[in-house]
Amino acid sequence: MRQRLAAANWKMNGLSRNLWDITNLAEWQKNSLVEILFCPPATLIHPIAKALTGLTGTSVQIGGQDCHTHASGPHTGDISAEMLRDCGATYVILGHSERRHGHNEQNILIRAKAETALRFNLTPIICIGESGEDRQHSRTLDIVTEQLEQSVPDGAADKGVVIAYEPVWAIGTGKTPSIDQINDVHMHIRKKLDTRFGSETGQRIRLLYGGSVKPSNAEPIFQCPYVDGALVGGASLDPRKFSAIIDALGST
Ligand code: PEP
Repeated sequence: MRQRLAAANWKMNGLSRNLWDITNLAEWQKNSLVEILFCPPATLIHPIAKALTGLTGTSVQIGGQDCHTHASGPHTGDISAEMLRDCGATYVILGHSERRHGHNEQNILIRAKAETALRFNLTPIICIGESGEDRQHSRTLDIVTEQLEQSVPDGAADKGVVIAYEPVWAIGTGKTPSIDQINDVHMHIRKKLDTRFGSETGQRIRLLYGGSVKPSNAEPIFQCPYVDGALVGGASLDPRKFSAIIDALGST
């Protein structure tokens, strides 16, 4: 059984006063069977890690939103996997569409980042997903296959890598694919992983859905048999909404 994962992507949002949102949620969800992850901006990782160590019984994890391919060096403004680990992160989001498109990140670079993350014991959450144009031209499965093949490193399954299927056109737009569309893509990804890593090992990789998940649509999405959790942007900034999503994940 794969443990279900609710991951919050705060993007470039969050100040020190928002620490309470996380500690409150950790308190509310103390007994949740769902694994809970916050990926705040890098400035908040250490303060959150400190605040969480003061709480008893919480298993909330912290992650970064990107890391460099190199362990250290002359890369002004970048952050390394070792730095994320050093300040308390255990996960890192890689290849988010805002980085693929806003920073022109290609599959090969994302794979190199994932390899570096693994070297420093960070679990990569590798994001893949088609654009609206790809979807309109029935290219979704081809695009997703290519991204999977090129951005997921060998050995990913042994090391617990997570894949997030995030259709670009659904991120931050309030639009979501139909349940059939989510099912089709997740089933396709699962098959590809089984073929590449072997059905037993491939099964270890968790598949998240991401793109406009909110309390009102969470349940049917989490009922999809191949969906192991969610990567949540906008709704994760409101602790009550994120908590409701976690509840839906824990009860489906
Ligand atoms: C995301 O950015 O990963 C995301 C899924 O955003 P939203 O939930 O706001 O669509």
